[in-house]
Amino acid sequence: MSFLELRDITKRYGTLNAVSDVTLSVEKGEFVSLLGPSGCGKTTTLQMIAGFVDVTAGSIRLDGRDITHAKANSRGLGIVFQSYALFPHMTVYDNVSFGLEMQRVPKSDRKDRVEEALGLVHLSAYAGRYPRELSGGQRQRVALARAIVIRPPVLLLDEPLSNLDAKLREAMQFELRDIQRKVGTTTVMVTHDQAEAFSISDRVVVMEAGRITQIDEPYRIYEHPETEFISRFVGKTNMLPGTVQTVNGGYASVSLAGVPVEVEAPGVALGETLTLCIRPEKLRLAGAGQGRLPGRVSVRYFLGSQWLYHIDGPLGTLMAVTPNDGSAPLDVDMPVGIDWSPSVVRVHRGVMAEA
Ligand code: ATP
Repeated sequence: MSFLELRDITKRYGTLNAVSDVTLSVEKGEFVSLLGPSGCGKTTTLQMIAGFVDVTAGSIRLDGRDITHAKANSRGLGIVFQSYALFPHMTVYDNVSFGLEMQRVPKSDRKDRVEEALGLVHLSAYAGRYPRELSGGQRQRVALARAIVIRPPVLLLDEPLSNLDAKLREAMQFELRDIQRKVGTTTVMVTHDQAEAFSISDRVVVMEAGRITQIDEPYRIYEHPETEFISRFVGKTNMLPGTVQTVNGGYASVSLAGVPVEVEAPGVALGETLTLCIRPEKLRLAGAGQGRLPGRVSVRYFLGSQWLYHIDGPLGTLMAVTPNDGSAPLDVDMPVGIDWSPSVVRVHRGVMAEA
């Protein structure tokens, strides 16, 4: 049995199933993120683990103990929610120490533990300040220190870095992961930020309309999305519709604007429409007359470490991303050849709708 087990948990609000039959096993020390669009049930799932929202059906077990109906404060979990404000009339030190007092930890131990927790979030110098004297990012870090200081069996984080600017947010993502590794706390985080989920997590749980649609390592979610929705939701994808011209074993030849392309597609029928999905960074831009399809650069965007191109061609406009390796970028109106290796193509049956 895993350390934290959600078994078929469901939350109904009237006729709305906010969360439906969610089953998830989290191992001890693991960092798992719940990722999905707004309203898909991420926060509700986290709140049920925390004990702030009652479970309509299903069960939750923590370290072998059934906590489905246990009171929130008896679960002893570390919680950092967006709305989980600090005590305004207490200093940073007292905010962090508060949980230890509740646990009746002796005063001498409290001091060491508070100092350790503040050190982990790089706020040792701020112990005497009040929350109103801190920036949004510093307050979020105090909230994190307050959650980890009690050494909870599970840390629950709901968009814990949302108040930070892009630069600090990225730095804190690595720090958060670092802190979590050092402390070894099993962690479940809610985020709608894919890059955040991918960079921090051991596994990512993708949710859609109250249900889990894939649980996997970040790399696999990106490279092998199991549903059409995940293909569109995670990262950017070119979607090329084509018709099956020939089938041979598990392979099919698909006509893309008259150009035959061989793909692995077991079980498809002659004449069937398939959508070939290719990520922008997997397209190679070659000289005119080379590659599989002709194209012309219509737009160029500079992204810092990469160039993003829009390439017009017989299949409409495709996105291509190339690394900024210091060489001169392609110019608008330049004719190019578009190429890719067969292994980067993901095949979906039918026509995929644009996101
Ligand atoms: P976001 O990323 O926008 O925070 P989320 O994935 O966390 O979204 P939830 O907050 O879990 O989504 O909400 C899931 C669904 O349940 C939504 O349709 C929401 O409107 C509904 N919902 C949440 N809380 C309640 C409530 N107390 N009463 C009724 N409906 C609710």
